[in-house]
Amino acid sequence: MRALVLRGFGDAAVEEVPDPVPGPGEAVVDVSCVQPSVTECMLLAGEPIAMHTVLAARLEAGPTRFGGHEFAGVISAVGPDSGDLAVGDRVTAVETAPCGRCAACRRARPDACPSPAVLGFTGPGAFAERVLVPARTVVRVPDGVSASHAAAVQPLAGAIHGHALANVKPGDTVLILGAGVMGVLHTQVARLGNAGLIIVTGRSAAKRDLAKHSGADLVLDVGRDDVHAAVMEATDGIGADVVFECAGEFTQAARCVRRGGTIVMVSVLPDHHPAPLALMRERSVLLVHPRSGAGGYAPGSTVFEHALRLVQRGDVDVQGLISHRLRGVAALPEALEITRHKSRYGTLGPAQVDLFDWGTRA
Ligand SMILES: [Zn+2]
Repeated sequence: MRALVLRGFGDAAVEEVPDPVPGPGEAVVDVSCVQPSVTECMLLAGEPIAMHTVLAARLEAGPTRFGGHEFAGVISAVGPDSGDLAVGDRVTAVETAPCGRCAACRRARPDACPSPAVLGFTGPGAFAERVLVPARTVVRVPDGVSASHAAAVQPLAGAIHGHALANVKPGDTVLILGAGVMGVLHTQVARLGNAGLIIVTGRSAAKRDLAKHSGADLVLDVGRDDVHAAVMEATDGIGADVVFECAGEFTQAARCVRRGGTIVMVSVLPDHHPAPLALMRERSVLLVHPRSGAGGYAPGSTVFEHALRLVQRGDVDVQGLISHRLRGVAALPEALEITRHKSRYGTLGPAQVDLFDWGTRA
């Protein structure tokens, strides 16, 4: 099969690689649609964010495969002991699989597993025609949800996870800094949940429009509006109860949160990003870091299934984030380029790659 192979930072090409063969408890999924995450694009380009040193060490040892955890496809082979999965099932998969053997896993705390397998990160992912996944991570895609939408559900599961962690109380004012993919998904999830006033900030007019359509009550232009003043005015001077920081604007988050409020760090920041610690101490801020993606709810996959049902019912719209769809596995490098420079290419979400139409599979 063909797959994306990384020979160095910024040097990825589609090459012929061996087909995956399912062992016990594993399934092979023919990839129908896949999209890169911004984090993957940053890592593939060599940016010094979390996981960089791990990937650098792997590249020292030779060409490697990296990335591809937001995908949907059709099962083409199953190994022994893979439960009720069957060839032809339309599926996606939770990206994180706790080891099941360590002290944390044995104590029923798989979220604390120090060495989970992460699709595309600890092993080959879905930047390929076929992907090997643990059967226990597979989630069936409900009828009526397209491969394109199913591939876009993984960040939604992350937004649901972050929202749950924030413990938004009925009527709470929620401030979402940044109207990119995570900001827009957080807006929709907040609207479905307990949030009262929802304030969203955005840089581009297109992003602000999408935030408005996603349920924001007040949309601020970071290039023109005084965000802090506007938040204080909208909250009678106390600040937002919960801030979802989705734009790398940590200091703004600390200024805009109320005393005793919560900041949820959605952004993936460099190791030594400036942080206004004195201000956070003075405000008694609760700072929480949700796990990325759908992880943390394993071994069940309830959050992922919930996210797919939200899309199936039309409660959450992921279509608004999908503007660029490319065709064929060879388009993977182009999808990475577009997703890494989204504003240059005029897209809000990642560029998707369609490998085959799963409607044509019996
Ligand atoms: Zn473990």
